Amino acid sequence: MLSYRHSFHAGNHADVVKHTVQSLIIESLKEKEKPFLYLDTHAGAGRYFLGSEHSEKTGEYLEGIARIWQRDDIPAELEAYMQVINYFNRNENLKYYPGSPLIARQLLRDYDQIHLTELHSSDYPLLRSEFQKDDRAKVLKADGYQQLKSQLPPMSRRGFILMDPPYEMKTDYQAVVEGIKEGYKRFATGTYALWYPVVMRQQIKRLVRELEETGIRRILQIELAVQPDSDRRGMTASGMIVINPPWKLEQQMTNVLPWLHKVLVPSGHGHTKVSWITPE
Ligand code: SAM
Repeated sequence: MLSYRHSFHAGNHADVVKHTVQSLIIESLKEKEKPFLYLDTHAGAGRYFLGSEHSEKTGEYLEGIARIWQRDDIPAELEAYMQVINYFNRNENLKYYPGSPLIARQLLRDYDQIHLTELHSSDYPLLRSEFQKDDRAKVLKADGYQQLKSQLPPMSRRGFILMDPPYEMKTDYQAVVEGIKEGYKRFATGTYALWYPVVMRQQIKRLVRELEETGIRRILQIELAVQPDSDRRGMTASGMIVINPPWKLEQQMTNVLPWLHKVLVPSGHGHTKVSWITPE
């Protein structure tokens, strides 16, 4: 049974980094007029109320989006992401946090396609109702990993696949690598972005090694740590592993991560990183 609910974590520092990368990839794909598929394998509920019992219990968003919201020195790289945050919080109060499906919904064009899967019996109906009136969207209560086989390659031959599992089961660490291999076999030119948490550094080192062993080229790693590595403290860092990143992404994240780190982590602990796991 799935117990993870993203509502406890929405808007935390990991979401800020994940959704910054997501929005930059979408904006880059929009530079060509041709349509593309946005496939979100682990979509969550879509919209999160920051006054909910879940959000209030952890208060994680207070050390995430709340720290950058309404600053007057926001870098250009955050423009698209912040536009979406502002859209959902028009009256100057930070009340809602849009998850990855709603960020995509706001940024995609009329002729792009959105395919979302979510398995949780409470989050799936919430997600489906968000997209009821959106002709571009297909929302399924289905296994996200299976979509990498059944939905690829897209008709448009252009696509962005976001994989954001909760890693509540250890098997997720293998499933993401298998999923990427399956997807890549069918659609080698797509852009794949995989989110990962750093709870135990060894697990991420293994994940990176397994990705290297796939032989896939052009894999970029982006990470922001709020604490030094530790096997006791829970999540100390998070990151995105991007296959076939748009050419500007490395530079954009190199520009913006130090600013995000400064603002999100006033103590200065942790680190940032943008580097290639495998280059061209
Ligand atoms: N991507 C979302 C965002 O950025 O707003 C957050 C997603 S949350 C980290 C992970 C979600 O994956 C949870 O809502 C969980 O119920 C769902 N999930 C877990 N296993 C799944 C699977 N095999 N297929 C589809 N969804 C799954």
